[in-house]
This record gives sequence, structure tokens and C-alpha cells, in this order.
Amino acid sequence: MLGNMMSQPLLISSLLQHAERHHGDQEIVSRRVEGDTHRYTFREMAARARRLANALRTLDIGPGGIAATLAWNGYRHLELYYAVSGAGVVLHTLNPRLHADQLAWIADHARDEVLFFDMSFLPLVEALAPRLASIKAFVALADRDHMPASSSIPGLLCYEDLLAAEDDRYEWPVFDENTASSLCYTSGTTGNPKGVLYSHRSTILHAYAAALPDAHNLGARDVVLPVVPLFHVNAWGLPYTSLLSGAKLVLPGAALDGKSLYELFEEEGVTFTCGVPTVWQGLLDHMKAQGLRFSYLQRVGIGGSACPPAMLAAFEDEHEVDVLHGWGMTETSPFCAGSVLKAAHAGLEHDAALTVKAKQGRVVFGVDIRTTDDEGRELAWDGRTPGHLMVRGPWVLERYFRADVSPLQDGWFPTGDIATIDVDGYIRITDRSKDVIKSGGEWIGSIDLENVAMGHPAVAMAACIAVPHPKWDERPLLVVQRKEGTDVSRDELIDFYAGKVTRWWTPDDVVFVDAMPIGNTGKMLKSELRERFRDHQLPTA
Ligand code: ADP
Repeated sequence: MLGNMMSQPLLISSLLQHAERHHGDQEIVSRRVEGDTHRYTFREMAARARRLANALRTLDIGPGGIAATLAWNGYRHLELYYAVSGAGVVLHTLNPRLHADQLAWIADHARDEVLFFDMSFLPLVEALAPRLASIKAFVALADRDHMPASSSIPGLLCYEDLLAAEDDRYEWPVFDENTASSLCYTSGTTGNPKGVLYSHRSTILHAYAAALPDAHNLGARDVVLPVVPLFHVNAWGLPYTSLLSGAKLVLPGAALDGKSLYELFEEEGVTFTCGVPTVWQGLLDHMKAQGLRFSYLQRVGIGGSACPPAMLAAFEDEHEVDVLHGWGMTETSPFCAGSVLKAAHAGLEHDAALTVKAKQGRVVFGVDIRTTDDEGRELAWDGRTPGHLMVRGPWVLERYFRADVSPLQDGWFPTGDIATIDVDGYIRITDRSKDVIKSGGEWIGSIDLENVAMGHPAVAMAACIAVPHPKWDERPLLVVQRKEGTDVSRDELIDFYAGKVTRWWTPDDVVFVDAMPIGNTGKMLKSELRERFRDHQLPTA
């Protein structure tokens, strides 16, 4: 017997309609690549999104088509989020930090039909345009005054001209909620990037879950600043959850340094923000150097790579900002788990509570997890036994875009992460399987070793990698970037591990680098370090 309730499809356009109707006066503030600040309301944004949907029709981009973007976090990019998906077209957010060859490969693989780009990427797009065979229209996200006098891009269009020529009346189409809504490629640190094609249904369900109190905890009184780019896994869902909850949105454009972010946090009264650890290190360093305090910030979401305990303590203890250490990946939309305490943790001492918060947390309803050994047997939730982390749920990938075979194993998605799960269901990521250090047949968690090093006052960044060892197969080598104006020796760092990890986990050696290699989503490139130090002679070898 079926239930008797309405079966309204879960569509992204409904978020926009809700935001316009119920939070029409709420503000969206953007630092533009043009250099100034732009402000308008959800109501004005919705009207412009309708014009844009009409413009897509004029450009002959229809349902099932793909519209690509190369843009920072700004209001025009947000309009594309809603107009493109709302019209039944797929929004493909390209990562401008990728190499031009990779961008050309991805755009070709996706068969993008139109490209909307920020003017700061004009030289890149001009260089790429001849290689983008599937793209029939190029649109600069600018007004007439900011258009280039001439460009090698054939028939370059002006975004504001397109909108001005259209009506702001448009009926959002109603279609199957499983229709594709947006597309994001993984960074492809191993092999070619892979496309993850989200649906309206997966996006809305993810937004409901990510807005929950034990997740991003968003409400209409919040002011949200996504530092995480709109081209990195849909800015972790914040463009959707902000409209779902009626929160004010602050979009930082291209200026993501500590000083620019701090100013924007203070000027706009930001209460919640999200980003990767490298960004927060820049902000914390700036604030420390200048003796600055937050006036409004309440919560910070940290993910994408492990949040070092020293960073957690800096936010929580020095700045009284609540840290949500979250875990997810492109293939999981991304939000799966966050490190929010349970009632049972209420009596914990400060340091013990921080130890729980340093984990990657427990899953929100909708995501199912387990860990398995190399033979695929499920492991115990004892908080000690590391295994392959597997996930499943309605916003987890089933198949990569245009791929024939599914990566699923018994219906579970293998994340490629190594983790323990404790009795309370808290995940602790010890490594990525490709970063694991296997010494004498046992795994050494490189993230733990990095976290210890990050607790040293002279360490700006630390990576722990495996180097070949004649007796143990592999042993850990610690790679360190020192903080400017500080000094610390190899021996001091090795001694720093005493009592903090099991003795045999202590790195065998330390090397210093001037700058850590950083990838296009702000994470350390350990693969590059492994390559560089492949022949490093360990003193223990
Ligand atoms: P990529 O880095 O491959 O572009 P994602 O941005 O999707 O892909 O990153 C997902 C990966 O990032 C996870 O599989 C995990 O290894 C790592 N990651 C994400 N959040 C955390 C976290 N809080 N702690 C440790 N690792 C994390």
C-alpha cells in the first residue's frame, strides 16, 4: 500500500523560491574580482537567476546540456548555481587552479557547451579556447564597462548584456528529482580526474543534512562565508544550505589571504565559515601577528584534510570559536561526518574533549559507514583497529560520470581512506591508503605524526611520508616547513615525539623544505614529496 502524501520532486529551484518568498530581504555580499563590494538581496538574486535561465534558452542550452564555470565565489557564480540547475541544465564547476591541459581534458570529457568565466581568467580562457571544441559560447562574468576592448575568443559574450536583454519572468520547470544538477571532477592526483555527477535529489537531501545542528547548524540569523570555493565540491553545500536556512551569504572573491578574510569577517559580522586547514593557518598567523580578535565568528568548519590539534586549540581556546572538524569527499557531496560532542562527553575535561573533537566525527543521518580489512571483512568499532573506510547513502556516488563500471564493493563506496571507528561512532582518519606508511607489515598513521609536528611552535607545515627501508620496507620521513624567523633542528624535532607516539612510530629522519608543495584544493601534495625524497638515505637504513 502506498502512502497518501504529495510526491513533490526535490528540486534545487525550490530552494530559490523558498529563499525569495521567506527571506527576500536577506543579503548577499560579494567582494568582486573588479575590486569593489557588491550587495543585493535574495529577492534580487532570484529575479536575476530567472533572467539567466531565459538567457540559457536564448543560447540554446537546454535540459541535459552542460554549462561550465571558471569563477571565484561571487554573486554571479551563485546565480549560475541556481539558474543552470533550476533550468534542468548541469552546472559544471571547473577548478581554475588546475593545469591548462587538465582543464582542456575535463571540459572535453564533460562535453561542456558554454563557459562562464570571471574576467581574471580571461588570459587562461583565451589560451584554452582553441582547444575547447564542444564549447559553443563563451560568456565573461562582467558588465559592458569591464569587457576587454578586444579578445581572441570568438564572439565573446557579456554576462550583464545577456541578462539585460531578458525578461525576469520564468517558470522553473518541474522534472524528475533524479535529474543531474551539477558536476565536479576530483583533482586527479592519481590518474585522470573523474567526474561526479550530482542529482537534484542528492543535493537537496545533502543540504537538509548539512544544515542540521550537529552539522553546519545553520539558521536565518547566521552570516555564512564560504572560503571553500564554489568550484570545490559545491562549496561543501553552503550555496544551498544558506538559502535553505535563510542565512546571509558573504562571498570573498579571489582574496583568500588572512588579512582580507579577517576584514570581511569583521565588516559583515560573519558567524560561520568553512575551509581547508591551510587557509585557516594564514588567518590565525595574521591575527596573532596583529593581536586581533573575532567580534562575531562563532563556528568554523574545517575539512578537506586533517585539522591539526594545535589549530583546533587555537580556535577553541584562544579565540573561543567552536570548531566543526568535518569529513567528506567529492564523491560524497561532500558532507558525511562532523566532530560534535555527545551528551555523554559533557563531563570530559578540556583536553579529553578536544581529543574527541580532533577526530573526523560521527556521521549525520543518511550516511552509513564501516571499516574493512584487506579481505573485505568488517572490523570492530573499537577506536583502535584501522581499516578501509566504506560509505553509502543517498548523496554518495554510485558511478563516475561516463564510466561503465561502478567502483562500489558490495554496495559500499571505498573511500580510499584508512580510519578507525570508536564505540560512539566517531571516525578517526589515520591516512589515505596511498599515503600509508607500512613498516614491518604494520601501518603507521602519517596524520598522527604530522599532528605532533604541527604542535611544535617552529613548525608551519609538516608532512610525513614513507621512504624505502631495507629492513622494515618503509619508514616515516618527516618533511617540515619552518615558520618564518624560527629555527628548530632535526634532533629537536625527533626528541619532540618522545612520549607522544609509540616509540617505533617516531620518524627516522627530518628534512626541511622552503615551501611545502600545495595542490589545487589547498592540500599538501605528498605524492610530490614522495617523488622528491624517494632516494633519501635514512640514518637507520
Ligand atoms: P581530492 O583531494 O582527491 O580532490 P576531495 O577534495 O574530495 O578530493 O578530498 C577527499 C579526501 O580528503 C578524503 O578522502 C580524505 O582523504 C581527505 N579529507 C577530507 N576531510 C578530511 C579530514 N577532516 N581529515 C583528514 N582527511 C580529510
